[in-house]
Amino acid sequence: MMRDVAYAQSEAQRMLNLLLTPEHEVPAAEREKIEQETVENFANHINKGWLKYRKSMTEAGDYASVEWTGQGSILTDTRGREFIDILGGFGLYSAGIRHPKIVAAAKAQLDRSPQYSQEMLDPLRAHLGKVLAHLLPGDIQYGFFINSGTEAVDGAMKLAKLYTGKAGFISTERAFHGKTLGPLTLMGKAMYREPLLPLLGNVRHVPYGDAAAVEKAIQSAHQVGDGIAAMIAEPIQGEAGAIIPPDDYWPKLREICDKYGVLLIADEVQTGLGRTGTLFGVDHWNVTPDIICLGKALGGGVIPCSGFFASKKVWECMEPNPFMHSTTTGGNPIACAAALAYINVMLEEDLPRQAREKGEYIVEKLEGLKAKYPKVLKEVRGRGLLIGMDFPTDEMGWQVASGMFSRRVLTAGTFINAKSIRIEPALTIGYDLIDEMLVRLEDVFKSIAGDL
Ligand SMILES: *Cc1c(COP(=O)(O)O)cnc(C)c1O
Repeated sequence: MMRDVAYAQSEAQRMLNLLLTPEHEVPAAEREKIEQETVENFANHINKGWLKYRKSMTEAGDYASVEWTGQGSILTDTRGREFIDILGGFGLYSAGIRHPKIVAAAKAQLDRSPQYSQEMLDPLRAHLGKVLAHLLPGDIQYGFFINSGTEAVDGAMKLAKLYTGKAGFISTERAFHGKTLGPLTLMGKAMYREPLLPLLGNVRHVPYGDAAAVEKAIQSAHQVGDGIAAMIAEPIQGEAGAIIPPDDYWPKLREICDKYGVLLIADEVQTGLGRTGTLFGVDHWNVTPDIICLGKALGGGVIPCSGFFASKKVWECMEPNPFMHSTTTGGNPIACAAALAYINVMLEEDLPRQAREKGEYIVEKLEGLKAKYPKVLKEVRGRGLLIGMDFPTDEMGWQVASGMFSRRVLTAGTFINAKSIRIEPALTIGYDLIDEMLVRLEDVFKSIAGDL
């Protein structure tokens, strides 16, 4: 592109004008123009590849689906087409889209102070730390706030290294802990990891759900002189398709880590804060990890907010030089206001209970569909509203995902990764929308089964 300052400014102004126009006054023609321009802008300035893989391009009919607004579990595109959202931003929207109390808290803080001075003590961050300390498992009491899940895991890795003085990690196959270079080392899929090797050294991957394999990996590391700082896992693997470990897995991990002086990190970026039917995923097994990572839902689906947390004993290694880890925008006042509001909504509306009850309801209905369409739906599993469906092939999973999209239900599942599709709606989703989603899902299954 040629530098064109005047054009850049007028283009910025044009979008700002639209932003400041009341919703109902935006003319239809203007919305259609946005649609076209968004596709062009993606192709020219973001990444053409996405246009090939996104259902919103390939399955929307004559026009691309461009996100415009949403409320609760309904997303509306620029054409006013409404989609039932059962993707929930992969766990971001635990309280639904634009929960009024969370939006109000963020707006109020925006009017008071949007960011920190970086020098004076900031009250909201400290208060959020205290509130979370009263919810987190066991003696976990201190926290560091940042903006994304991958930053939370990265910080947890640094903390584990500082505390133990060791460098190695044990992770699991098919794990997902974020995509910046530190957490990418822990990634359990070759596709994302291999092109970037070498990453951090001394990371061993073991099959998920197999505690004995963790003990063996630690023993073997020690045998050859590699120190292990921590074992990290998701309480339930999210990205891998809602994989639930055996009931004795987490209690055994706790025992093994204690035995060998290795820290246990629970990556609860997706499972935390109500998603699986309990406050935290590890609560299913009453295990207290040494370090816990939160993200996604923490900011209430309104402002990015994440964090990593540990006990006083572990945290002390960061006290002599508190600048060992720092951030300029992490834990900013708007994010903390949104997080406090999310926590309040979660407790007030008992979102963990809602997740549990709605999850059981959906899984039971899906079991019925599995019995009816055994050649399409192979397996169903879930805890709370983290539910996985398995299909025989990626192709068939993709048929399901695209069939749902054309029936205006937003699910996960991409062209290259659809063998397992997650159902992960807002914990606040109404039973009317759940039932409607199930009707459309059965319609998709019926049409696929008819073609077999
Ligand atoms: C989504 C996710 C992450 C990464 O979070 P980002 O905000 O996308 O960086 C890390 N760990 C788990 C378990 C996740 O589900």
